[in-house]
Amino acid sequence: MRKVVIGLEVHCELKSNSKIFSSAKNGFSDIPNSNVSVVDMGMPGILPVVNKEAVRNSIKMALAMNCMVPDYLTFERKNYFYPDLPKGYQITQFKHPIGTNGYVMIDVNGEDKKILIHDTHLEEDTASMDHYNDYSLLDYNRCGVPLLETVTEPCINSADEAVAFLEGLRSIFLYTDTSYARSDKGQIRCDVNVSLMEENATELGTRVEIKNINSFSGVKEAIISEVARQNEVLDNGGEIVQETRRYDESTNKTYTMRSKEDAIDYRYFTDPNLPPIKIDKEWVEEIKSEIPKLHNERFRIYTKEYNINTKDAYTIVKDKKVSDFYEECVNLLNEPVLISNWLTGDVMKYLNRESLTIEEAKLNPIMLTDMIKMVIQGKINGKQAKEVLEKMLDTGKDANTLVNELGMTQISDEGEIRQIILSVLAENKNLIDDYKAGKKVFDYIVGLVMKTTRGKANPIISAKVLKEELEKYL
Ligand code: ADP
Ligand code: MG
Repeated sequence: MRKVVIGLEVHCELKSNSKIFSSAKNGFSDIPNSNVSVVDMGMPGILPVVNKEAVRNSIKMALAMNCMVPDYLTFERKNYFYPDLPKGYQITQFKHPIGTNGYVMIDVNGEDKKILIHDTHLEEDTASMDHYNDYSLLDYNRCGVPLLETVTEPCINSADEAVAFLEGLRSIFLYTDTSYARSDKGQIRCDVNVSLMEENATELGTRVEIKNINSFSGVKEAIISEVARQNEVLDNGGEIVQETRRYDESTNKTYTMRSKEDAIDYRYFTDPNLPPIKIDKEWVEEIKSEIPKLHNERFRIYTKEYNINTKDAYTIVKDKKVSDFYEECVNLLNEPVLISNWLTGDVMKYLNRESLTIEEAKLNPIMLTDMIKMVIQGKINGKQAKEVLEKMLDTGKDANTLVNELGMTQISDEGEIRQIILSVLAENKNLIDDYKAGKKVFDYIVGLVMKTTRGKANPIISAKVLKEELEKYL
């Protein structure tokens, strides 16, 4: 068995109002080539200006990935020709990227692993292209959108680890609110480097780079198929050639694009129009203070301190908005497990059924915890609570109002319940005989009590009192 070695280069579009070097809008438009400025098109005489928000979001990501942020940044030109790049060069970072030497902790099937980050750097996105039979269409709206490229060390050892890292990384983008990171919109894309190592080899094997994969499932399939191909080549006594390949989802195979001999010499040099940018230490501290607790940390707290099962904890941290909602609830009512049960159970079921997000739902943490308090205090039972929750989500009314409207308040007074039980028994003397004869009528009598009180009698107290009353006949 040869060891699989993978390094990823992940591109993710950042949130910002305008583009990285121009005032054109950074946003999706149905009208192609409408969000474009002369700067994005690289017209003669243009002067790029760096977007501070993009730098800020990049620093936030660099810090969230535990990277070193340098004292000053530089931007370099990467020269190559392609129609999606009207300037003939891409402005990127080469010498002083925004973050270096970081790491991201991932969870692979319950095991922790540290994925080392070589660097993360800020650059401009290129135009998008649609290819047809004998022509292609270009949309420059994407040209100049701020893009953060994160490069890992070759320390990933399976397709599952690669996907776990990508999911972890996307989650960091979402928790830090620096990107929408939607694969379906092409906002997060990945180049995958794959090589194999003989069991006792000390040096890395020759790598193959698979370019521009749009989905995480695509990354997984591409790795599996490329590993199989490389194993086959080596098994047959062949050698792996260093090259760039592309992955075709329809055939589930990778194909050669260009070999190392055709590698492009990008002739990087510092962009003369963009002076180095000094990064103030205080600014970095301020940005650091804005990073919320990330999903990893929350997952640890939920499972280790709150004793939530991993499946539910995962459901909660998957969406920061749900996790924030949950934490607000726990602040209001110190019952983390109960709250998790209601949130991941009935609340999620409702949201999925109605295709709503937690923000769109007519429920807030106060409403949910008030309802749970009523259950704890025995004012309503579990079945009634489910109905109240459903109605809260439908109407946005609070639990108290609904319990009154539905006439649901529970009877929890022991004396009152004993009176009801005594009258039920008086009207059903035959049941007492059945009970004495050892027949299983206990639950049936509890049912009668519920029927008489229209479900309002507290079931636990009812069962206790009934047992006491019936035992008098034995
Ligand atoms: P380049 O600049 O030519 O793209 P780098 O050395 O910067 O090459 O590496 C790019 C990516 O390739 C990184 O993610 C790195 O981890 C990965 N990588 C480098 N060597 C290997 C290897 N032997 N096997 C797998 N991945 C590798
Ligand atoms: Mg590369």
